[in-house]
Amino acid sequence: MTTVAAYAAPAAKAPLERTTIERRAVRESDVLIDIEFAGICHSDIHQAQEGWGKAIFPMVPGHEIAGVVSEVGPGVTKFQVGDRVGVGCMVDSCRVCENCLKGLEQYCLDGNTGTYNAVGRDGEPTYGGYSQKVVVDENFVLRIPDGISLDVAAPLLCAGITTYSPLRHWNAGPGKKVAVVGFGGLGHLGVKIAHAMGAEVTVLSQSLRKQDDGKKLGADHYYATSDPKTFEELRGSFDLILSTVSAPLDLGAFLSLLRTDGALVNVGAPEEPVSLNLFSVIGGRKTLAGSGIGGIQETQEMLDFCAEHGIGAEIELISASEINEAYERVQSSDVRYRFVIDTATI
Ligand code: NAP
Ligand code: ZN
Ligand code: ZN
Repeated sequence: MTTVAAYAAPAAKAPLERTTIERRAVRESDVLIDIEFAGICHSDIHQAQEGWGKAIFPMVPGHEIAGVVSEVGPGVTKFQVGDRVGVGCMVDSCRVCENCLKGLEQYCLDGNTGTYNAVGRDGEPTYGGYSQKVVVDENFVLRIPDGISLDVAAPLLCAGITTYSPLRHWNAGPGKKVAVVGFGGLGHLGVKIAHAMGAEVTVLSQSLRKQDDGKKLGADHYYATSDPKTFEELRGSFDLILSTVSAPLDLGAFLSLLRTDGALVNVGAPEEPVSLNLFSVIGGRKTLAGSGIGGIQETQEMLDFCAEHGIGAEIELISASEINEAYERVQSSDVRYRFVIDTATI
């Protein structure tokens, strides 16, 4: 066991504070990672505030981890000391169910093991990336290509794969009109990735405040959803709408923006349920779908795709003492576009 510094929420809704946690000794197929950067995902806030239901405390959030391997177990074959690596939202799964065998570990039928706020298959609680080191089985560790620096790579481990996976699955590409709802952490990466895939990209944001950034990062069009004219003008326009909104949304209004056979894929995980008049999907044979992160192999594919296309997150690098302030800013949609913690400051 190694004692390492971390930032934790001691209880639901309590401010995060510096503490120490124990990391297990490296086992046969484990990798010890010296964490350099950890992104702040809105999911960290939902969980630290028990917005999704009962959580485990103390909680060390963080599932956008980038760092360097500093030790490997005797059975490790994929990584060596000095490798640049990342860890995303899960650190284990059953590995034998139908979904795990298909590379869909995120949908493991026995439940994947979350990077934090979970109990590992060894019965021990898991602690996330707001810390200086982490020990993870090599099968849940990703390689960060040389072309991406670690600070802007960290958010790809959740926000990147969560947008890449549905964009791929629903065939975003040349000739496709894709809208991204919400221009925050997930949204801005969704725009960059959809643009790199060759789609015509529209941002649907609450206001035009971030329009210049949106256009710079790859959006062809940018509209404010606070303006009712937006919904008239864009009616029936899109093949695919990706909603990254963290709060309940008027899904019917957004479904009206789809073409016949279009799909609205929701990745936002609001704390309250939403209601929907089902005529919104009947007319026009529309699909309403959801998507959760991505499998390990697909996450590696996403990192390689991002390196090839020069994609990293737009970040505000913060010290650990600024985490609570960053949480407040994320909650008021004041993020440009991902807060990343320099873990040397923990
Ligand atoms: P974020 O950085 O806070 O971005 C969310 C964006 O949604 C905001 O920037 C804002 O964009 C928009 N928004 C916020 N409140 C809104 C409201 N009341 N009405 C309309 N729009 C609103 O959060 P994130 O880290 O990208 O995460 C987004 C959501 O995805 C969270 O719920 C998170 O838990 C979830 N998530 C899901 C998965 C998955 O696997 N499915 C993975 C990661 C995260 P504008 O300012 O542009 O309007
Ligand atoms: Zn996340
Ligand atoms: Zn499984």
